[in-house]
Amino acid sequence: MTRALYLEDSYLQECDATVVSVNNGTYIVLDQTIFYPKGGGQPWDTGTITHGGEVYNVVFVGKFAGEISHEVNRIGLQVGDRVHCRLDWAHRYKLMRSHTAAHVFASLLYNGTGALITGNQIEEDKVRFDFSLEKFDRKILEEYVDKANELFKQDIQVKWYELSRADALKIPGIIKMAEAFPPEFSRLRVVEVVDVDKQADGGTHVKNLREVGQIALLKAENKGKHNRRVYFTLE
Ligand SMILES: [Zn+2]
Repeated sequence: MTRALYLEDSYLQECDATVVSVNNGTYIVLDQTIFYPKGGGQPWDTGTITHGGEVYNVVFVGKFAGEISHEVNRIGLQVGDRVHCRLDWAHRYKLMRSHTAAHVFASLLYNGTGALITGNQIEEDKVRFDFSLEKFDRKILEEYVDKANELFKQDIQVKWYELSRADALKIPGIIKMAEAFPPEFSRLRVVEVVDVDKQADGGTHVKNLREVGQIALLKAENKGKHNRRVYFTLE
């Protein structure tokens, strides 16, 4: 099992690793990685894997049968190679800001209106939310964006830690977003925006709400009976 360093420290931009398997020449599994695999509404990380002066571009990262697989742009890496990984940090850091903003917005909306988030997709500079809410009113959504922006001006810490599944599930609203937690996981990773939100989550986040900056509502759509969709962007 690959050690997922991004879960321990989302600010790691580089690491050394050893190649543990190579499939079809370009699908690489490492003993440890800083590359986040696609999932939980967050896109995969890009960057490079370097070995012996040769640079391989990481074009996709996914989880297959529990293993984190890095797809590189060409063949050449071999089992046992000691490699150096480097993230495209500008890309990842924006995702961390967007992702953290998503927690705050979802939490405010959920606590304020009871809206259930039915889907969400984080992009580098844009976040999409699908949620169910009886009353649809763009002004209300703008109010929640304003409330979130107030919090992004404050020195509020974001922490992540593991809890036993039983303890985690005692926290009200711990699973607000449509992220899957297979029952075989005995421990859940909790991401806590202090005094704002606690969420079971396997993504990458910033450590302080001030790092988010400000967000703006892009678009709000009515998708039928109780289904709403909203897009916001980092400013
Ligand atoms: Zn998250």
